[in-house]
Amino acid sequence: MPELPEVNALIDFLRPRLIGDFVTRADIAELSLLKTVDPSIDALAGLAITEVARRGRALVIGFDGLSLVCRFARMGWLNWHDTAPSGPTRMGKGPLGMRVTLASGAAFDLIEPGSKKNAAVSLVRDPSEVPALASLGTDALSLTIDELAAALSESTSRIKTVLEDQRIIAGLGNAYTDEILHAAKLSPFATAKTVDPQALHTATHEVLDAARSRLIGLPPGKIKTAKKRGFSVHGRTGETCHVCGETIAEVSFADKSFQYCPGCQTGGRKLSDRRMDRLLK
Ligand SMILES: [Zn+2]
Repeated sequence: MPELPEVNALIDFLRPRLIGDFVTRADIAELSLLKTVDPSIDALAGLAITEVARRGRALVIGFDGLSLVCRFARMGWLNWHDTAPSGPTRMGKGPLGMRVTLASGAAFDLIEPGSKKNAAVSLVRDPSEVPALASLGTDALSLTIDELAAALSESTSRIKTVLEDQRIIAGLGNAYTDEILHAAKLSPFATAKTVDPQALHTATHEVLDAARSRLIGLPPGKIKTAKKRGFSVHGRTGETCHVCGETIAEVSFADKSFQYCPGCQTGGRKLSDRRMDRLLK
């Protein structure tokens, strides 16, 4: 799933290309993608793009009075075309969810490979009309130590769960929380209120800053590959930890898994999948 650093890199790419350009047409190719009916998607035609921003893990493209909110889910992303593909947009074929064609002759697609269609686009007058955006907590990049301390102090939840909860901290997901917990040498199962906010805050910024340097300047098609290359533990089950030399372990569920280093994070102990399953119920 694209998280804060990927969406920021995407915005860096899009801003100089989109702002000031006009939409000539917007075509929906996957009906389940569009979550709103009023205003109609046809209302975008003729509008100038005035803003390209991020809210949590969502991309928000702003027009005069309207916002197109794109939530990518696990597999969704954006494809850029310097020259818009010719021919009509075909419905329900392959990964294409939506194509926006611009007056400059360029175009961008919202795509979602795979059979599960969970990405979501909303055309709204205000981004806060999208419930998932209205409930967002403080952004991970602007979160102060005091705010983090307050979020942790009362919580008996596992730290991994708290970091991924968009209502508490916005922008992180499964991958960067694995990386942050590894950098902070914390067990994913640690109880939130026992965690030192200073150490967690430092690790969060270290991981996000490093991701920014890795991804900056890349075109959308290369951002996802570059993201994976930079990880220390996430997606690296069975590989050797570059910090301590232990073998990276994983906890897996029906539809997701996460990784950690027993040497760096859990005093050598393996975490049980069943235990986590029970905690999540
Ligand atoms: Zn390690």
